[in-house]
Amino acid sequence: MSIFKPLDLNSGSDTKTKEVEHVRCLIIGSGPAGYTAAIYAARANLKPVLYTGLEMGGQLTTTTEVENYPGYPDGITGPVMMEDFQKQAERFGTEVRFGTAVASDFSGEKRRVIFEENKVIEADVVIIATGATAKYLGIEAEKRYSGMGVSACATCDGFFYRGKDVAVVGGGDTAAEEATYLAGLCNKVYLVVRRDLLRASKAMQTRVFNTTNIEILWEHQAVDLYGENGVEGATLVKKKGTPEEETVKLKIEGFFLAIGHTPNSDIFKKYLETDEVGYIKTKPGTSKTNVPGVFAAGDVQDHIYRQAVTAAGSGCIAAMDAERYLSESKK
Ligand SMILES: Cc1cc2nc3c(=O)[nH]c(=O)nc-3n(C[C@H](O)[C@H](O)[C@H](O)COP(=O)(O)OP(=O)(O)OC[C@H]3O[C@@H](n4cnc5c(N)ncnc54)[C@H](O)[C@@H]3O)c2cc1C
Repeated sequence: MSIFKPLDLNSGSDTKTKEVEHVRCLIIGSGPAGYTAAIYAARANLKPVLYTGLEMGGQLTTTTEVENYPGYPDGITGPVMMEDFQKQAERFGTEVRFGTAVASDFSGEKRRVIFEENKVIEADVVIIATGATAKYLGIEAEKRYSGMGVSACATCDGFFYRGKDVAVVGGGDTAAEEATYLAGLCNKVYLVVRRDLLRASKAMQTRVFNTTNIEILWEHQAVDLYGENGVEGATLVKKKGTPEEETVKLKIEGFFLAIGHTPNSDIFKKYLETDEVGYIKTKPGTSKTNVPGVFAAGDVQDHIYRQAVTAAGSGCIAAMDAERYLSESKK
């Protein structure tokens, strides 16, 4: 989640102290979407400047094995893969800078983004690839078992839990989808639901109810995880805060969070249309936002697929859209 509040770039005293630099193509974010946009933009001579943000390399740097990215038949670790992305972007002249965008101003002809240290970049085109952050419950054990049984992505990690018992936490559409996906791989899937109902759509609920190896644990909350060298079980509290409150030990090897993501779009919301969660809206089949010359790619505009390969694909689309925009407007 973005920790920065939108700032008003036009507020008098603020702008006076800022250093302004003009660039042709500004890319914000160093995940698969940002670096792929950079590769295409650099090869199209847009001279991209890419700001990495705090998480250099993006979400994949927090994972070990990536087995589903095409081109790596033996798999690859997330950090090494993202170093490869960066090298390829730099090979064609992308200027990679460490820094975080803290505010935007897309009100005028030039698109302006302010970075820490009072630096303002004025760009002919901006590609936003700031990703989305998975929500966690906030229990200490999630960090302790990160990469050792805890995951926020069933599509990414489900394969590692084939034939095992796992739990999915959540009651919405994502949780229902992740549970049914995992049910096709795992022996048993426990869907841990805080309330006595699912928020998921009727269609998704029907799929869950009709899947024989999904068991719903109604009115349960996960409070801890245990295990020697990885998750061996979860401690749940049933009917928390009621007279019937009860502590339950659940033997599982995988603990999947499916309680939503926060798109890192806060600083752009004043100018860009987003959905109710905050995902930047793009014109279908393109990366175009409602502001001409501003494009969005990757997880910050995709609440459905959220994969490295789809993020990379949309980064390519964004760079091509940006190049066409520039040639049509003869900038
Ligand atoms: C633990 C884990 C394992 C995963 N495993 C897989 C897998 O095996 N296969 C797969 O396909 N997908 C996997 N994914 C999903 C995949 O990582 C994402 O779909 C993908 O990284 C999205 O790419 P992105 O470029 O849109 O954003 P991200 O990778 O999220 O990158 C966002 C970038 O934006 C930067 N940023 C954010 N805010 C700012 C700001 N204000 N200013 C400047 N920069 C900013 C960040 O520093 C970061 O560099 C996994 C995700 C996680 C969390």
